[in-house]
Parts: sequence; C-alpha cells; structure tokens
Amino acid sequence: MDLTDLHGVGPRLADKIKALGINQVKDLLFHLPIRYEDRTHIHPIGACEPGQRVLIEGRVEHSAIVRARRAMLVVVLSDGTGRITLRFFHFRAYQKQQLSRGTLLRCFGEVRTGFQGLEMVHPSYTRLSGYDVEPVADRLTPVYPTSAGLGQNTWIKLTDQALALLRHDKLELEELLPPALLGQFKLSSLAKALDYIHRPPPNADVAALTRRDHPAQKRLAMEELLAHNLSMQKLHRQQRDRQATAMPAGCALESSFLQCLPFDLTGAQQRVVQEIRVDLASNKPMLRLVHGDVGSGKTVVAALAALRATGNGYQTAITAPTELLAEQHLRVFSKWLKPLGIQPVWLSGKVTGKQRALALDRIGAGAELVIGTHALMQEGVKFSKLGLIIVDEQHRFGVHQRMNLLEKGGTGSQQAHQLIMTATPIPRTLAMTAYAGMDISVIDELPPGRQPVKTVVISNARRPEVIRRVATACRGSQQAYWVCTLIEESDAIDAQAAEEVVETLRHDLDGIKIGLIHGRMKPAEKQQVMGEFEAEKIQLLVATTVIEVGVDVPNASLMIIENAERLGLAQLHQLRGRVGRGSNQSSCVLLYNPPLGDLARQRMAIMRETADGFRIAEKDLELRGPGDVLGTRQTGMLQFRVADLARDAALLKAVPPAADLLLQRHPAQVDKLIRRWIGDASRFAGV
Ligand code: ADP
Ligand code: MG
Repeated sequence: MDLTDLHGVGPRLADKIKALGINQVKDLLFHLPIRYEDRTHIHPIGACEPGQRVLIEGRVEHSAIVRARRAMLVVVLSDGTGRITLRFFHFRAYQKQQLSRGTLLRCFGEVRTGFQGLEMVHPSYTRLSGYDVEPVADRLTPVYPTSAGLGQNTWIKLTDQALALLRHDKLELEELLPPALLGQFKLSSLAKALDYIHRPPPNADVAALTRRDHPAQKRLAMEELLAHNLSMQKLHRQQRDRQATAMPAGCALESSFLQCLPFDLTGAQQRVVQEIRVDLASNKPMLRLVHGDVGSGKTVVAALAALRATGNGYQTAITAPTELLAEQHLRVFSKWLKPLGIQPVWLSGKVTGKQRALALDRIGAGAELVIGTHALMQEGVKFSKLGLIIVDEQHRFGVHQRMNLLEKGGTGSQQAHQLIMTATPIPRTLAMTAYAGMDISVIDELPPGRQPVKTVVISNARRPEVIRRVATACRGSQQAYWVCTLIEESDAIDAQAAEEVVETLRHDLDGIKIGLIHGRMKPAEKQQVMGEFEAEKIQLLVATTVIEVGVDVPNASLMIIENAERLGLAQLHQLRGRVGRGSNQSSCVLLYNPPLGDLARQRMAIMRETADGFRIAEKDLELRGPGDVLGTRQTGMLQFRVADLARDAALLKAVPPAADLLLQRHPAQVDKLIRRWIGDASRFAGV
C-alpha cells in the first residue's frame, strides 16, 4: 500500500518519509521507536521528582512574562498536592492569554530542579475544560527517530493508521515464520510484536524496550538475522551448485616454491593448505574462509593455492582492500615467484593510460597471477581463464564486490574457486551469520620464534622519555615505527600531521634516518620508502595508519602509536601486528592524551593484557558493537535494522537451526524473508 493512501499524507510528506527509506505503508512499522513516554496516568505534582518525565494536571495560579536577559513566559501550576513552575523561553503572545490564571492544564515534560523548586521547561500541554474529563493514553507513547519537518505527532498518526490496517489484515504483511518455529523459540507473531513495540501497554518493561532487549523486539531481530543467514546461505549454495574446474596436483611448481622458501610451514599452515587442495581438486567451487591472526602467515597459504591454479593452466586474481596491502602482496609474490618464472600483473585505480591498457592486455591474454585493489573488480577487466579468486579482505570487502569479481570468470558456466582471508579473527557467532554457508579454516599457530610484543601505555606528558627510547633502539640495530593517527578520516590532514611529527622528530633524533609514508604519496614514492625501510636505510618510519595492514619488516621491533586512545581495538591490534614479526623482543608504546575515558582505558588494558586476536575481537564486539568489528559500516554487508550482533548474541545460536528448519520444511518462505529484510541487497541471491 502506498504512503499517499494514508489519511493526511500528500506527495510532499510522502517524499520526506521516503527519504528515510520508508517506501510503503508496511515499512512504517519497521521504523521502530527509540524510547517511550508514560502518559497513561496523571502524576500528583507533589510526588514529582527531578528527572522524571511525567504527565501532570493542574490549575494556573500565576502567569507572567519575566524579562531576564530575554523575555520568558513563567507559569505556576498547582493541583493541590504541590506546585511546579513551567518555563517557556520561546513563546508567542497568544500563549500568555492561553495560559492565564485559572486555566486548567495537562502537561507532559521532564521535571527539573529550578530556582524556585520543581519546574518543567517547554512542556507539551493541552487546555482542559475540567478535571478528569479528557481520557489519558491507554498505551505508552512512542518516540520515533525522525528528521527535520517530521514531528512526533505525525509519526503517531501514521503508525496509528498502519497498525489499524495491520489489525484488519490489510497490509500484506504476512507472518513468515511457521508456527513450529514460533513455538520452539517462544516467539510471538509478527503482528503482535509490532503492535507491542509501537504501542506498549502501561505495564510494559520500558527499560528492556529502550535497550531493545524486549521479547517483542527479539522477535523481529530473530527474523532479521534469519533473513541474513538465509540470504548468505542461498548465495553460497547457488555458487556451489555451479561447476568449477578440478585442479589436481601434478606439476612441480608447488614443491619448487616450497624448496625456495626460507622457512618450513607451520603445522597449522600445512593443515589449511591441505584443506584448500582438497577443495581445489574437486569440480565443485571452493568457498573457503581462512581465519588467521595478524602474522600467522596467510600469504604463503595463498601463494600455494595460486600455484595450484597456475599448474592447471588457470589464472588467479588476488585482491586487497588498500593500495598498500595490495602493493605488499605484489612485492612478496614477485620475489617468491621470480625463480619460477612467474611475473604478477599489477592493477590498481592508479594504473592508468598505456600502463593500464598493457595490464588489461596481459590479463586478457591469460597472465597467471593478477594482483590489485578493487580496481580488479571494475568494468573493463576481462580474464581469459580465471580459476581462483583470493580476497585478502581484512573485513573490508562486502560480499557484493566479491560477486562482481566472480562475474569476471570469463569461462562460461564454470565458476572460479574462492579463497577469502581475514586477519582479525571474528567471533564464531558472527562468523555463522556473516559467512553462513562457507567452509572455514583456521590458522591457529604463529610461526616459530615469535615473542609476544610487550605493550606499555604512556601518557603524552612523558613523550620525551618515549623519544629517548626510540633513540636508544635506533642507535642499536633496531628499527621502529612511529604511527600518527587523527580522528579525521582525511588523508590530507593525516599526512600533514605526520609531516609535522617528522619535523620535530628529526630535530630531537639527530643522526637517525627518518622516513615518512602516508596515503597521499604516489605508489612509486611509497614503494621507495618501504624499500629503504626494508633495506635498513631508514631506521625510523613515521607513518599514518596506512601501514595498518600488510607491511612486513621483521627487523622492526618498536612501535609508537600516537593518540592511541582514539583507535578501536581492531585497529590497534592490526597496527601492533607490524612488530613482533622477527625473533627480536618487540615493544609497542600506546601514547595517549590524558584524561583517558572509560572506554579507552578498557581498550588500553586489554591491549596490554593480551595479543590473542580472538580475545581482542570478542572484547571489541563487547565494547563497540559488531558493525565496527567487521568494518561493514563501509561496505553495507551486515547492516541490520533491528538486530544488533552484540546485544542479540544469544539469538545467533538459534539462527542456524531455525534456518535449516525453514529451508527444509518451508522453502517458500525463504525468499519472502530475504526480500522483506534485505531488499535491494538481495539481488545477488537471485530473489
Ligand atoms: P598474515 O597472516 O598477517 O598475512 P604474513 O603472511 O604476512 O602474515 O606472514 C607474516 C610473516 O611471517 C612474513 O614475514 C612471513 O614471511 C613469515 N612467515 C610465514 N609463515 C612462516 C613460517 N612458517 N615460518 C616462519 N616465518 C613465516
Ligand atoms: Mg596478510
């Protein structure tokens, strides 16, 4: 049903509502209140306490315009049990008349302590013709999130109508969860849940509702989580149903590579490589997620997978979310694969003109290995025989980008194998939702000889001490990073801050070679600086958070992170992962600006306590909510309307069995659920 079918909604109002993503009448009911007000009973004024938001009734005893710095309308109201002052800083002349002595008023507002006892500032009010003549609300009053020009009264009128239509079954808002499921998980019907959330009864648990922790809200959250799980499963099932090329063992590339490698694979790496080989040897597409903490050695695993494809005559595409990380892969792979005569093709958004044409030619002509950023996923890139896609996603790619790449297979009905690598280990409950239907491998062992990084938390007031520490380290044979961070998400501002830090450090650290790297530099410049740092021509590298991922210089053993209090745990963990990669004892200094807030204090404490990515990820989820953990706010991959992965963690366990039940016994509901909750994004699931 169209919004304009509602009473009082014309095209202009409809447009305002649509701007909030509400396109139909039934969508209104998924726009949930943020809080509730209790206007179901009248509170005696004498019993009011500061902080309460209450409904009161009384007679105006006194009313005057008081001129302090500016005019203000002051009204004293009494109901026989007590007095309260109403203050209006903005008022019209007629209001003085409306609120004259003797008028009977009903007001709603927050009680505060003022100069002369209790007061309410700008209460909403209505005039009454007598005590107890107007009925009070019989439900709690919802307060909706809104935008300019859309008042609460409008929302109430709109949702009143939508709820009435729902009650009369005129909304085409079907119950999609079968009775068995509702019973098993003790969920109420959709219609009941919506009615309760929009108009709770007076005795409702408002605290739980406000936390969105009430069973009625859980009912919706469960449905939404189910829809996400089902859409991911469906997407992945469709892929699995296709054919892929079986890539059996059979050429010497992999063993020659392993022979050239200066180290042996860890047990965990061997296990994961084996799992991948089994997948690749089958003509069913691989769909595997490799979890491995920072520094666990995912790159070698990826290389071995790529060589299996090469050996079978197929192309591999490796993509990474940032230019720097992709460049790092390019460097490492070029070095590793040179002895085997394989030269990767490089493609990023910054490769243009002739060079781009050349790269595209080589890709089209079947180059074995192509490395790049999301540029690989864009139009105009055509592979001749794409057999394997490796995504080093660090949680930054959404499923959509991966699908775009998949569509570039160029081998007819054949589907490429997919290997997704993620660095921050994500909690299991999250994995079940975000990666439903994927196989998961875990590299749960670090290469030998690594010593845990010692982490200290130091106030910026002790900066000179920290600088001396850097001096000592660099005058020995160590190398260090100095990471500058700012809140602004601006390369330009970050770069400037880093340049300033370099200036002062050059002054303080005479004789030490300092380099600078930031996101504003050209790739060639960045490569040169990284090259010099790797070759130990630079001892101290001042950097922005561009070095967060992918930088790998084992001799670097000290990292200073400025403004550490502003960073989230995932980012701190990633950054710290740049040191402790060699056999030296490494340290990380978290430099903060006092005073430390509570959240920041907890983050620093956990960083000092543990290097375990799983624990850090769990804690991060607890402290920040999962959107940030997955970095999906940017990608739109896991955006929920009602559910919250941290708050609804307990529900997540029920999701997979519920999803199975639907798939097996009620397959007709599956697409409807996906369409209801995921909407446009369901395109890839073919709904
Ligand atoms: P990540 O999992 O963070 O991508 P990398 O693949 O970059 O980790 O590996 C981190 C470092 O450890 C690299 O310098 C890599 O060469 C080294 N490395 C990987 N596997 C091993 C191993 N089995 N033994 C010793 N060093 C290893
Ligand atoms: Mg890596």
